[in-house]
Amino acid sequence: MRYTHAPSGPTRGEQCQEKYLCRCDCLFTHRSFHDGFAANFLPQAPASEKVFQHNRLCRCAVRRTGWNRARSPATPLGSAVYSQSYPQPFRRSLEGFRAAVNLVRVALDVPLDECFDFAVPEGAEPAIGSLVVVPFGRTRRVGVVVEKPTESGVDLARLRPIERVVDDVPAIPAEELELLQFCAAYYQRGLGEVIAASLPPRLRQVNRRALKAPAPASADPGFSSSHALNAEQAAALAACLAQREAFHPVLLHGVTGSGKTEVYLHVIADVLARGRQALMLVPEIGLTPQFEAHMRERFPGATLVSAHSHMSEGERATGWLAAQAGAAQVVLGTRLAALMPFRDLGVIIVDEEHDASYKQQEGLRYSARDVAVRRAQRLGIPVVLGSATPSLESVSNAREGRYTLATLPARAVSGAGMPAVRTVDTRADLPHEGLTSALLKALRERIARKEQSLIFLNRRGFSPVLFCRACTWHSTCPRCSSNLVLHRGEARLRCHHCGRQERIPVKCPSCGTEDLAPVGHGTQRIEEALREALPGAGIVRIDRDTTARKGALKGMLDKVRAGEVDVLVGTQMLAKGHDYPRLTLVGVIEADSALFSADFRASERLFAQLTQVSGRAGRAGLPGEVIIQTDFPGHPLYAAVAAHDFDRFAADALDDRRIANFPPFAHLALLRAESKKTGEGVAFLREAARVGRSLSTEVEVFDPVPAPLERKAGFERSQLLVRAGTRALLQPFLRQWRSELEARSDRRVRWSLDVDPQEV
Ligand code: ADP
Ligand code: ZN
Ligand code: ZN
Repeated sequence: MRYTHAPSGPTRGEQCQEKYLCRCDCLFTHRSFHDGFAANFLPQAPASEKVFQHNRLCRCAVRRTGWNRARSPATPLGSAVYSQSYPQPFRRSLEGFRAAVNLVRVALDVPLDECFDFAVPEGAEPAIGSLVVVPFGRTRRVGVVVEKPTESGVDLARLRPIERVVDDVPAIPAEELELLQFCAAYYQRGLGEVIAASLPPRLRQVNRRALKAPAPASADPGFSSSHALNAEQAAALAACLAQREAFHPVLLHGVTGSGKTEVYLHVIADVLARGRQALMLVPEIGLTPQFEAHMRERFPGATLVSAHSHMSEGERATGWLAAQAGAAQVVLGTRLAALMPFRDLGVIIVDEEHDASYKQQEGLRYSARDVAVRRAQRLGIPVVLGSATPSLESVSNAREGRYTLATLPARAVSGAGMPAVRTVDTRADLPHEGLTSALLKALRERIARKEQSLIFLNRRGFSPVLFCRACTWHSTCPRCSSNLVLHRGEARLRCHHCGRQERIPVKCPSCGTEDLAPVGHGTQRIEEALREALPGAGIVRIDRDTTARKGALKGMLDKVRAGEVDVLVGTQMLAKGHDYPRLTLVGVIEADSALFSADFRASERLFAQLTQVSGRAGRAGLPGEVIIQTDFPGHPLYAAVAAHDFDRFAADALDDRRIANFPPFAHLALLRAESKKTGEGVAFLREAARVGRSLSTEVEVFDPVPAPLERKAGFERSQLLVRAGTRALLQPFLRQWRSELEARSDRRVRWSLDVDPQEV
């Protein structure tokens, strides 16, 4: 049936006395009308279909986060404003209409924790999981049908119909929807937002070209093994495949260069041979080309799909469809791939499972690793978490028998030992332009031997601050509590937090002296110093600045592989995963600051980072050496890295965590707030702390503290930590707390909850 009806003419003056007020103080009100005709804030449906959705959304509300739905009519206002530009009410008969209505509940990407009901026009047959185009406010949006309710809380006559079912995208499978529902509940976000985060941008567009259905998967993926597995690898593989048709989490702890990749590939081969799909997650976009190449070579017949944010919209949409249809046998991607739909997923592999980049830091703050484990559990399939430095969470899971532990204690290539790690005391061997003589000597030796070196420094730009030697003025960002970083190439001072750019001043803005000096080192400056110290050497810098262009990174890495590069300089982009046989020296510059960070995970992260970057050296039989430049050569953390003794480090760190009652022995959530005006965010957090304490005695609510970066882009930021012994205690608390906070929030304070925060 169609819901058009005879426009029996507007019946003016039949407003009831109920009025609704937009909660956001925009002073927009509207009245409701008798007989179920909505005087909506939202625009009128097309003239042929005069069905209005009753939707108490003010125009201003959909755009704003933290908006709080008016669940009940607000108190009547004395002087309501009714705009004539909004639909006039009119009367119609509803008999025989209500009974036959088909309803769908649609999740939309709006910052509200609710879904919206629509009517289904005759002929349309959306399934649960179908993408649909619906009218929403003045716009149209793509949403996903999540339910087919038999009743709606909204008066049926006020429902607007869906506009159409998106027919070139098959309905999202039930397993996928369930996963997204779990994420929404666990990470305290709206379902619509979570679904949107899982859909490639192209699929969320209302107007777009039709997509082609993916070609079916090839029958025979093929598999060629390049090495015979050594005994440890064979044992690890057996551990991974011990249970193929049940939830079976395996922690594959293998030192750098121990041949974890080979084990992954064998696991994947087993899954493909059984006609199922495999998902492999890597922490960095930069690692996808390397794995892609491996896989194409080893599975010549397989359909492989990559998924990461540097792909074109078209590629991402095609890949998503192929995964969903089962046409993609292997999906290789960064964290966003953890949310992709599959037809028949048989295994998930998470490489470098400890890596913090698996945790999304804005919007839906999910951990792709945790979601992967959860997903494997629901599907009843194996999940392999691999790392040379597993997270303490995973180590603890293995210790307690929740995960099977498989270890690869030695490097795979015969003759390749672990690199020799030593510290160089920068108080004795004073660095010149960031480089000690010991490091330079080692670099020259490698160049003479035609071996490669890697200089690791986790700070891009030329120098982290510009400093006036006459008056101590230094370049700070006016909008953030941070320094402006000097970028020489572009001749700019740049804020790495808010993106602000300024020209480099010639004279000190404060005292006028022309004695401004760059202080400290970034990758640009080290690159320059290396060019000066090592004339004729092939040097490439790899960091976010040099790899912004699509394909740039791959081009540089290809050069490294081809042996055209003697020295690589770079940030953490270079630290993990890469395998260059002729790379034998790693130099670490200025890692000390991380020794004294306030974050309880700082030492775990530094240990992992140094182990990872050290692990790039000497992987193929040529002996590797690692030089750490430091003011604290005796620091126990450096000693632990040098000893390659992860187990010892983990045992000590776990003891500390147990004593301090931090994860994995407790579960955390962080409430972050920010406000333009000083004090408002903190006041909100104080109130939140009070409310939290009144909700539960078992969940510990700390006091609000300033965020590590206290000001960012003009906002004052603060945070509040809560802690509970178990997830089962924390989750219901968070749900309740969040709804209490929503009722109290106003537009002056932006806030968000981060469940299992990585940075506190
Ligand atoms: P990881 O991921 O554990 O750091 P990789 O998987 O990159 O290590 O392997 C390191 C090197 O060892 C690679 O060059 C790989 O080709 C080689 N390798 C892996 N397995 C074997 C094996 N069984 N025999 C010989 N070499 C191997
Ligand atoms: Zn000055
Ligand atoms: Zn800034």
